Amino acid sequence: MEVVIIRLTAYREKDYIVNALSNDGMITFRANGALNVKSKFAGKLFLYALVDVELRATKAGFTLTNVESLTNMAKIFTDLKKIITLNIIGEVISKTLKDDDSIIDAFTLVKKTLVSITKTDRQLSLTYLFVTNLLRILGNRLVIDRCVRCGQKTNIIGVSYYEGGLMCKKCGDERSIMLNAEAIKILRYGFMISEDELLRHEFDDVEALPMLLLMLSYLEFTYNFKIISKDLLK
Ligand SMILES: [Zn+2]
Repeated sequence: MEVVIIRLTAYREKDYIVNALSNDGMITFRANGALNVKSKFAGKLFLYALVDVELRATKAGFTLTNVESLTNMAKIFTDLKKIITLNIIGEVISKTLKDDDSIIDAFTLVKKTLVSITKTDRQLSLTYLFVTNLLRILGNRLVIDRCVRCGQKTNIIGVSYYEGGLMCKKCGDERSIMLNAEAIKILRYGFMISEDELLRHEFDDVEALPMLLLMLSYLEFTYNFKIISKDLLK
């Protein structure tokens, strides 16, 4: 069973209680002896790692019997940009995916994003497209094909978090965020592609950074929380 670890809690002397996302929702299991350096689980259970686990059902819940890494964590931990990506993605999923339905809906996206971290150097593009896809999957997609207020398709000048989409010149107000043509194009692209296309077209860092910051602040606005790891991008 493939899972994404989102919490590791030390328990007793050498055990971990592991909380993870899966295709079936949230799952909790015990990894006996995982904190022992000689354990076969040692070096495989990391925060936000994608792992293939085998579990045994016991009276006290699930117990880990085998674990295989599906993301190359060594490759991530030696690259600061990849570490930052992993932290942002991890924080976003921990804060947005709270119930089984949203976990089930977003699991494929989370998995594909984690696997993609080691496949690209365009980390900001990947993180940006992860956030737009997550917003879409969770039902918070921005209206990107017309002005969200009047429906006009031309003279788009920006976006409004309050209205949930693009704004035209006539409707734009003091709460709208002005965007240039290139930014509007990148915003549209972000909400048009699926989780299968995260690496199909990649934006360079200069293009992706402002768009990523924009979407992280939209996420903060929508869910009313602060994404602390956003500060790592500065
Ligand atoms: Zn309008």
